[in-house]
Amino acid sequence: MNMRYRRLGTSGLKVSELSLGSWLTFGKQIDDGTAEALMKMAYDNGINFFDNAEIYSRGESERVMGRILKKMEWPRDTWTVSSKVFFGAGGKLPTQVGLHRKHVVEACNAALTRLEVEYLDLYFCHRPDPETPIAETVWTMHQLVMQGKVMYWGTSEWSADEIKQAHAIAEQHHLIAPAMEQPQYNMFHREKVEKEFAHLYGTVGLGTTIWSPLASGVLSGKHTLDGDASSRMRMAGLDWLRERELNEARLKTVKQVKEVADGLGLSLPVVAIAWCLKNSCVSTVILGASKTAQLEENLKAVEAQDALTPDVMARIDKILTTHA
Ligand code: NDP
Repeated sequence: MNMRYRRLGTSGLKVSELSLGSWLTFGKQIDDGTAEALMKMAYDNGINFFDNAEIYSRGESERVMGRILKKMEWPRDTWTVSSKVFFGAGGKLPTQVGLHRKHVVEACNAALTRLEVEYLDLYFCHRPDPETPIAETVWTMHQLVMQGKVMYWGTSEWSADEIKQAHAIAEQHHLIAPAMEQPQYNMFHREKVEKEFAHLYGTVGLGTTIWSPLASGVLSGKHTLDGDASSRMRMAGLDWLRERELNEARLKTVKQVKEVADGLGLSLPVVAIAWCLKNSCVSTVILGASKTAQLEENLKAVEAQDALTPDVMARIDKILTTHA
């Protein structure tokens, strides 16, 4: 397949339209051999961004990814890797979580060690921290960039207002501003990317690395209300996820969008991911996969964008807004 690349907002960095994340999978749901096969398939198909976070499997996800990156010996200038700071890597003491200078710096150093890299290409503030002034975080991120430990910094699940505040502080003090935000975006979750952030793309040049394009697999079409037995929906401790993502109304929507996908001769997950890519404000869609067959299928979404004509998009939109 031919991967396509997009600028990360108005930064000069070009990321692959599809990227690969490790939440719930690396160091947890899948063995390291599967993680390696997934990363190899991703890289061989032009994916140049691997997403991670300190909290994923409490640091283990970064360790697994770091070992694979080292083993693969891919030239460092052919891929990018991220970490995210806020939730901590397991410890919950006040010094071990949040966006204050101490934790942001220590978490960056710890992620560099776990990932076995000299710098993070992307470093995200995983959530806003109401107990740290935004200015403290902006200064800290700027300094990490100046030190060569981070290339681009950004936010995840911040409000438009918080992102604007960070930009205003950066502008006032001539600091490096956040380049990207990582919001959830899929057929069920559109408000933030399509409405709340609408004015940020043209003003602060926001890039977006969107997460859960399949709503944790619901948009693959394989789930009943209980969740498919071999899936994350049945994993211990993830009842909250099943309750959040799976309900009757959603399954009804899934059935109708699947009819559109069938008509195009495409699978539902491919259409759901291609639908995210049709939004030009999306820089990259972060895929999750617990099996190589899933990734192999989902990679078809790049080319499937061409089948999602304005007429098809309007039909899907009608289904989504009818059930919203
Ligand atoms: P998705 O919504 O795409 O869900 C991925 C899961 O769906 C897979 O692990 C698999 O789960 C199932 N699946 C994927 N493809 C198929 C297929 N073709 N057929 C059937 N089932 C399929 O993405 P994620 O929720 O995993 O999110 C992607 C990435 O985004 C994460 O890895 C992480 O990097 C990032 N993220 C960031 C967050 C943030 O707060 N910044 C929050 C959440 C994610 P199963 O094993 O159940 O089959």
